[in-house]
Amino acid sequence: RVVAEDALEVVKSVCPFCGVGCQTEVSVADGKIVRVDGRDGPANENRLCVKGRFGYDYAMSPRRLTRPLIRRDDAPKDAVLDMSKDVSELFREATWDEAMERAAKGLVEIRDADGGGAIAGFGSAKGSNEEAYLFQKLIRAGFGTNNVDHCTRLCHASSVSALLEGVGSGAVSAPFMDAEKADCVIVIGSRPTVNHPVAATYFKRAAKRGTKFVICDPRKQDMMLHAEHSLQFKPGTDVAMLNAMLHVIVEEELYERDYIAANVSEFEALKAKVAAFSPEEMAPVCGIDADELRAVARLYATSERSIIFWGMGVSQHVHGTDNCRCLIALALITGHVGRPGTGLHPLRGQNNVQGASDAGLIPMSFPDYVPVTDPEARARFEDAWGRPLDPEKGLTVVEIIDAIHAGEIRGMYVMGENPAMSDPDQNHARGALAKLDHLVVQDIFLTETARFADVVLPASAHAEKLGTFTNSNRQVQMGRPAIPMPGDARQDLELLIDLGKRCGMDWDYAGPAEVFAEMASLMPSLTGISWEMVEAEDSVTYPLDGDTQKWVIFDQGFPTKDKRGKLVPADLVPPDELPDSEFPMVLTTGRLLEHWHTGAMTRPSDVLDALEPEAMAAMNPGEIARAGLSAGQQVTVETRRGTITATLRADRDVADGMVFVPFCFFEAPANMLTNPSLDPFGKIPEFKFCAARVRSGEVL
Ligand code: SF4
Repeated sequence: RVVAEDALEVVKSVCPFCGVGCQTEVSVADGKIVRVDGRDGPANENRLCVKGRFGYDYAMSPRRLTRPLIRRDDAPKDAVLDMSKDVSELFREATWDEAMERAAKGLVEIRDADGGGAIAGFGSAKGSNEEAYLFQKLIRAGFGTNNVDHCTRLCHASSVSALLEGVGSGAVSAPFMDAEKADCVIVIGSRPTVNHPVAATYFKRAAKRGTKFVICDPRKQDMMLHAEHSLQFKPGTDVAMLNAMLHVIVEEELYERDYIAANVSEFEALKAKVAAFSPEEMAPVCGIDADELRAVARLYATSERSIIFWGMGVSQHVHGTDNCRCLIALALITGHVGRPGTGLHPLRGQNNVQGASDAGLIPMSFPDYVPVTDPEARARFEDAWGRPLDPEKGLTVVEIIDAIHAGEIRGMYVMGENPAMSDPDQNHARGALAKLDHLVVQDIFLTETARFADVVLPASAHAEKLGTFTNSNRQVQMGRPAIPMPGDARQDLELLIDLGKRCGMDWDYAGPAEVFAEMASLMPSLTGISWEMVEAEDSVTYPLDGDTQKWVIFDQGFPTKDKRGKLVPADLVPPDELPDSEFPMVLTTGRLLEHWHTGAMTRPSDVLDALEPEAMAAMNPGEIARAGLSAGQQVTVETRRGTITATLRADRDVADGMVFVPFCFFEAPANMLTNPSLDPFGKIPEFKFCAARVRSGEVL
């Protein structure tokens, strides 16, 4: 249908998908989105990728939840998900009052019988800052437990743990646009053209203008076309490769002596550790020629301005924190931090994963990463929230799943997360969800997780809500409602407040602005930033220094106790499960350009699903031929934990000996296969490496 331009209402908002945080103009006619354009935001300058431009229709999908649902008595929970079951076979519709009462009563009964530790909550990085803040406050103050986490545990928890330890802050030190100010850029474990496409446009423009790129990835990728050095290293050998570079910088004295003396501690310990990692010895380990390792180390260290970007290829390993420690060491010993065009930037996945983490949606910290174990800090939050708080760290995502199996956690509140797709070892994770005595799921679709729920609360899509969202660059941006909610669906924030009150909280927030004001009063990172300021300016980068938004931080030391960055030497730790004669291949998982995370939002988008409609597993064409398989056929991918069937795709990017499976297809959930072993520091599972085998045909 053609709609006259002057009949369109245009709403200024932000993209609901990735952490780049592109600003959008949403055109609406008759309560429906008809077009999304890019706006001149600081992180996109009018650009959008295919998801941001065409993926908006998910919000108007006929599959949206429109009525509160209560599980039918004759629909027992089963760990084996039957996706063919219609909603009416699992649930009956309920009034809001009945559903909210049932949701609250189940949680309160478990809390009162077994204590707060028997409850856990998964909040969402897709919701606003205000929703994330209230969610963690409800779990902490309402239920008396720190068992609250979200998908950051599955993407950058190891990055945050290494950054907090090394430089005292889990946020990026400079925006991704600073690639254009750099002389050398290292991108490692990240596929920006797929996962952060608009950030990739800045990278490509920088390369065109002469910035030298080093792309490190076990799979080939498009950015390698723009690179000075392309390092297709062996999966799981990041520390060998990075320590070899550190070895060269130390051996050839390419480090910044004065910067280290003034700003860095533990240099001698690092020197001693990397002495054993010569490029010649590490070359066969990581698969990169020693001369290439030396050349990259020299380029990074001797460039005037060098910056490092990384993604989940670095973080999703049992040695994810060690990988990040090596990257931090590279930046610290060369003084490539605290100036424009230098720094450390973990490219964040979801549109508000930075903000949700800042807001305290993690089990070990209150808002702004204040440890829950710190008695003074706890007293400050107890005063502010008027409730005694749990002095112990809570459990993380995978630990919560294990605690359900152990009978220690019996009730859960899940807002906008989909652990039945996103958690490793799905049979184990789904078995836990089926075992819960009481599960409340608040979402916009009947996700795989919602199918296990006792109560389902239909909530608001991004295009329907008002709130702030913080992108990968630390830019707090305003998301605005463009269309009405379908049926009886309610705002997430309203549901949180309602549930909070029914669980005993004395809450009378009038809306997100009031919640933001409370956050800002408790979070030093937001000092000087008001709701009105974000509303007026649309994007405010924290922290403020007087009136100045600090796009680059660490220019005057680090926010650590001694103001110094700390080097933490890393050892070579092998992946948890190596290939063997039974499972000879390496399975790695990730995302596709057209689909986002578990696919909960992009699979219902007609445009995006038409572009990538089919569950697939990708292997190198040579490997396919050697195995006697053919591209396009059905194959079974198997690990020690599970089995899926997918269409085999020939992909030259995938190295020999590897199989890549995206985790967005419920028909062939990659996480049926993945290994739940955790990085001991960040508690992130090893999604990027496990032993697998591939055979012709479907699951028997
Ligand atoms: Fe949205 Fe990310 Fe694409 Fe920008 S790059 S349009 S934020 S998905």
